[in-house]
Amino acid sequence: MAHDLAEGKVMTTTSSCESCGMPIESGRYCGYCTDDSGALQSFEERFARMAAWQARRDPAASSQDIERQVLDYMATLPAWRDHPKVQAR
Ligand SMILES: [Zn+2]
Repeated sequence: MAHDLAEGKVMTTTSSCESCGMPIESGRYCGYCTDDSGALQSFEERFARMAAWQARRDPAASSQDIERQVLDYMATLPAWRDHPKVQAR
């Protein structure tokens, strides 16, 4: 938005998304991890997205490897580390 650019605010990263770890300026979650109303998406939705992303990064990995890598990563994120599927990995 032109208004935001005109403000000349220095981009300072003060936090990271609690769901995916991406740097964000404010709030708890980035735009990718929330739905239209700003609510955090479900574990299943985020897991599927991260698995697809990881599979593109590491095409040679089996789906089992991908699943474990995604769960290991989600275990580092505040939004998911207490989730039963992460705990059970
Ligand atoms: Zn995020």
